[in-house]
Amino acid sequence: MSVSMEKIVSFCKRRGFIFQSSEIYGGIRSSYDYGPLGVEMKKNVKDEWWRNTVHMRDDVVGLDAAIIMHPRVWEASGHIGTFNDMLVESRTSGKRYRADHLIEGATDIDAEGLSAEEMTKIIREDERIKDPADGGRDFTEVRPFNLMFETYTGPVKSEENVAYLRPETAQGIFTNFKNVLDTSRVKVPFGIAQIGKSFRNEITPGNFIFRTREFEQMEMEFFVEPGTDEEWHEYWLEERWKWYLSLGINPENLRRYEHPKEKLSHYSKRTVDVEYNFPFAGWSELEGIANRTDYDLKRHTEFSGQRLEYFDQPNNRSYVPYTIEPAGGPDRMMLAFLVDAYTEEEIEGESRTVLKLHPRLAPIKAAVFPLSKKAPVSTVARELYDDLKGDYRIAYDDGGSIGRRYRRQDEAGTPFCVTVDFETMDDKKVTIRDRDTMKQERVPIEAVRERLKSLISG
Ligand code: ATP
Repeated sequence: MSVSMEKIVSFCKRRGFIFQSSEIYGGIRSSYDYGPLGVEMKKNVKDEWWRNTVHMRDDVVGLDAAIIMHPRVWEASGHIGTFNDMLVESRTSGKRYRADHLIEGATDIDAEGLSAEEMTKIIREDERIKDPADGGRDFTEVRPFNLMFETYTGPVKSEENVAYLRPETAQGIFTNFKNVLDTSRVKVPFGIAQIGKSFRNEITPGNFIFRTREFEQMEMEFFVEPGTDEEWHEYWLEERWKWYLSLGINPENLRRYEHPKEKLSHYSKRTVDVEYNFPFAGWSELEGIANRTDYDLKRHTEFSGQRLEYFDQPNNRSYVPYTIEPAGGPDRMMLAFLVDAYTEEEIEGESRTVLKLHPRLAPIKAAVFPLSKKAPVSTVARELYDDLKGDYRIAYDDGGSIGRRYRRQDEAGTPFCVTVDFETMDDKKVTIRDRDTMKQERVPIEAVRERLKSLISG
């Protein structure tokens, strides 16, 4: 089953996953807020990444760098000169488009990486390319547009005070390379991981939370000895692939995309994307895994005058490590996990909407239902809820029929519902119901905590 964009957007709003930002003022394009269920789910996506990338390993450490960095960082990284998208404006509608998207939307030409002149020529000559808004064919010349958000530090808006909101988290890692090396006992090969906000003034944001101007990134720079980089790149391609599968994504909706050599970013020797087949956008990037070579460390050495090298003690030599970078975004990943899990099904003549999220990603791990609002059933249910709630987000629901309560939790993606009924008073057992199979098992109250733990981590 594939779900439409409209359906997922309205579902996310109705159930409190994602809201349009500033909605009471009419909303602002391409900004979204994560509601009570959304914030839990996105946190789970980030926690799973962190757990897998940092906590489960002894060769990766974490970092949380500032969003506003020294402006020279962006000269060194190449963002001031080259972090551009190609912009074209339609004279008939006044609308602006990303030129590569305009060309690719109307033709079979792969426009990524073409120069402004080449794109202008194609748009002028190829009659199939029309303004999607009004069908017009009167376009300006294509020109590069820098995606970085500019701001000023301090009270004076002058050239010297220009600063940028970071367009990627990676540079905070490269600039802290030496700090981490000097303060933690890491040895090459090792990685530094970071999760945080990034900002890009995208020309055409869209597809809900897939492309926004403010978003989060999860990036890890893994430093290796030159010569071993290709092997490590393969290793991380595998690791990252396995991560998605371990969280239950349908492998048929996942593929690798190898960037053609001639279209690689200025810093990259090889880049492979993990793509998801979105029903409304087709195959689209969830994350890129790049071999950034020694480009960034060398550039920062050049621009800062600080030597960013690694001293290999056993071999008594210094070198500049190569970097393998898995770079993904939790917002995009969350959209993929949501779309992948969204299911409408008919069960015994009744339809239900259920989010078949992996328990680790589910916003609420379990819901406790007392069959009656009165004591002693409700007292026992409360006690169970209080006992469980510190471990995970747990819901307590005593409103309406059990059937309705199940449906509410199915939609929220809650994998397990625990019901305290009248028999519980005698046998000290409760029922755990599985969201996907709807099968129920009867478990002693004192075993619920352990049982949930094994079901969730399983
Ligand atoms: P695209 O080609 O879609 O613009 P990109 O190749 O520029 O993406 P990277 O620079 O490789 O993206 O960034 C790494 C990750 O950060 C992406 O795979 C994506 O998950 C996330 N990301 C990048 N831009 C955005 C955005 N505008 N909105 C949401 N997530 C983003």
